[in-house]
Amino acid sequence: MPRAASSVPEVHKFGGASLATAEAMAHAVAIVLAHRPAPIAVVVSALAGVTDALLDIAAKATPGKVTALRRKHLVVARALLTGAPQKELISVIDEAFDELKRLGEMTPRTTDWLLARGERLSARLFAAALEQAGCPVAFVPANDLITTDAGFGQASVDLARTDRAVRKTLGRLLARGVVAVVPGFTGATPQGEITTLGRGGSDLTATLLARALGAREVSLWKDVPGVLTADPKVVPDAHVVPQLHVREAAELAYYGAKVLHPRALIPLGKRNVAVRIRPFANPDSQGTEISQRRTLRGYPVKAISAIPGQALLTVSGNGMLGVPGIAARTFEAVHHAGVSVSLISQASSEHSICFTVPSGSAERARRSLRETFRGEIHRREIDGVEVQAGVVAVAIVGLGMAATPGIAARAFSALADAGINVVAIAQGSSELNLSVVVDRRHGAAAQRAMHTAFQLNKLDGGAVGAGRTDIVLLGLGQIGRPLSAMFSTSKRDGAALRVVGVIDRSGFVFDAAGLSARRLATLGAAKRRGTPLAKVGQKGTASEAIAFIARHALANPVLVDVTADDTADVLVAAFAAGMHVVLANKKPLTGPKRVYDEIGAAAAAHGRQLRFEATVGAGLPIIDTYDKLVESGDRVSRIEACPSGTLGYLFGELGRGRRFSEALRGAIANGYTEPDPRDDLSGTDVARKALILGRLLGFAGELDDIDVESLVPTEARGIPLKQFLKRLDEWDDAWQARVDAARARGGVLRYRCIATRRSIRVGLVVVDASSPMAALNGTDNQFIFTTMRYKKNPLVISGPGAGPAVTAGGIVNDVLQLANG
Ligand code: ADP
Ligand code: ASP
Ligand code: MG
Repeated sequence: MPRAASSVPEVHKFGGASLATAEAMAHAVAIVLAHRPAPIAVVVSALAGVTDALLDIAAKATPGKVTALRRKHLVVARALLTGAPQKELISVIDEAFDELKRLGEMTPRTTDWLLARGERLSARLFAAALEQAGCPVAFVPANDLITTDAGFGQASVDLARTDRAVRKTLGRLLARGVVAVVPGFTGATPQGEITTLGRGGSDLTATLLARALGAREVSLWKDVPGVLTADPKVVPDAHVVPQLHVREAAELAYYGAKVLHPRALIPLGKRNVAVRIRPFANPDSQGTEISQRRTLRGYPVKAISAIPGQALLTVSGNGMLGVPGIAARTFEAVHHAGVSVSLISQASSEHSICFTVPSGSAERARRSLRETFRGEIHRREIDGVEVQAGVVAVAIVGLGMAATPGIAARAFSALADAGINVVAIAQGSSELNLSVVVDRRHGAAAQRAMHTAFQLNKLDGGAVGAGRTDIVLLGLGQIGRPLSAMFSTSKRDGAALRVVGVIDRSGFVFDAAGLSARRLATLGAAKRRGTPLAKVGQKGTASEAIAFIARHALANPVLVDVTADDTADVLVAAFAAGMHVVLANKKPLTGPKRVYDEIGAAAAAHGRQLRFEATVGAGLPIIDTYDKLVESGDRVSRIEACPSGTLGYLFGELGRGRRFSEALRGAIANGYTEPDPRDDLSGTDVARKALILGRLLGFAGELDDIDVESLVPTEARGIPLKQFLKRLDEWDDAWQARVDAARARGGVLRYRCIATRRSIRVGLVVVDASSPMAALNGTDNQFIFTTMRYKKNPLVISGPGAGPAVTAGGIVNDVLQLANG
């Protein structure tokens, strides 16, 4: 088979979790066959749960347990094999378990000998199944290949000897196109005694073979989609990390991420071998690549892991200060007791050293320390050795953390917000790892809190994003276009604003890295020409767009709604996705009270803010003033307003003696009206603004409950727009009469709303010529607050209240509040 002989070998390892049943083993066999004719070495773990069961038997062998385990293997052999191979395997299995029944008391040495059975049997089964599928195959015992020291239970590998043996034995087989099947997890001393490499050791067997064979790639097939941002059993929304640097992976493994054996990457050194953690259930997926590539900037924090079952030991005392050798003696004592240390932290005052060890070894370590420091304790130079049992070390890991400020701050504030007390902290000077020790009860919550804080559940998560605010624009019309330009001029008051997405009725355009001013201008221009966003971006509803965008990690995201649609659902979705919302759109706040309450509840439930300054006074600080009054303890009882620029202009002109028809045509010509001016004249727009104000004051009713006086003559209500505009003169006389009557009473006409907690009224009134409202000019708006403090002399705010420029100003203000908040 010349092709096989000339190509680069591959190593495939199948973990126990992937070898639960005969069906699973058949699937693994199919994966191997699919990779032929490349030269392949296969490493297999024991069948799922077998190592645990064997350990259990080692602790106390009972005939029942042995029988159950024998049956487990027989079932797989019978389902997977037929004829002579089946018979042979059955006798191998019987023999293995007959021996087991005769076991006496177990030592580490005999335990390893026993544990090796699990891998050996599953490798025999695997090889037989491959052979049955017509594949040339050889079962190669691990003790022929992997040489270790006599550290039973956790043996260290002799790399040079192993390299030689693997090359010699497997090299030859692979060159002949034979697939080599090797039991994982085990090896043998030079004297031939069986050893094991520590729990999860089959991963190490695989990389040992890869090193010796010069493989380019090792696939570790597992029950997870890859290395995840956290243990999925603890953090349900953990996400696959596409690529990890070898050092990151090693750190994670060392810090308890069970997905990879902590020493599995050692044999590879700086060699250019990619280790892939791949999903057994989905052979086409590439899973996670572990290699020498550095993908740092985008996501400095790659993942979180935890070492459970730890105890924190603290050696402290005033006599330790400046005394050389205390740390050395501390760890010497721990080492002497045969205890391994996970995390070390020393205060710079040198008053104390603390470190974590497995709970089960804590007492041994403490005794050894007390013995070592007996003299110092006696002289009161050292207070003693304290043990805090039941703690968990949680670590965030990523090479890029070193170059990124704000990581620790974010981690600790996440823990603080979750009400989790940090018992100890450690950060290596490589800044590859930041670890905290927390009480066992908080272990899972701490992992979840930090996972969320770094948005590790999102695409491109793991950054801090401090000082940045990402904006999603809903609507790219008259207001949206100038607004996008304002936002993209970035830095304002130190807050970097960035538009990451724009959404219209057809679809959306999104870029997590931000849309440039240029791109936004192009999109705006296209929109003005009538090109829907779906044409240049993706198709979808606004809610779909939010869902898509929410899968990405964003910094302080804000949705800005400048549509005139019913967007309540979209807003609720945005809150749920962790976005703040800024509205220029009145519709969602003036729908049914139930919906209004739902929007508020969604914001509260997700700890997000809803701001809507631009909905009532465009750029005027109306809601802002209201909020400040209330915050300072005042009580607003009533807001009276002329909140319509259009009607303000109209009545200003009427007061100046112009005819109604003329004045309205002027308003239309100036672009002050809606496309159909009857929408302004009907008072609906004013009623909506009044409702927004009223609801602030506690008004519980609906838009329909508001008494609105329409200025559209009854006979003009149903007719087409053209006809209405043609017939405007017909109503001039009636309007003239109204204006004259008002003047006769010493007043002027205004279209005004009054909102209180109990009622809202909207309509035409005659106001005294000397009142502030009479002085209103052009399209100016006016808002009058009557409060506990401003009672006799109410607080008046007036100024331009319409037009894209001031409206955009109000929105930008709201966004800046959120950016700086
Ligand atoms: P194998 O079957 O190859 O021995 P393991 O069971 O050793 O596989 O490793 C997979 C397990 O590791 C998963 O079931 C998962 O619960 C656990 N795990 C812990 N941390 C992580 C992580 N960060 N990513 C993926 N899996 C993890
Ligand atoms: N079977 C061994 C264990 O469960 C080794 C392995 O699966 O990698 O730890
Ligand atoms: Mg494992």
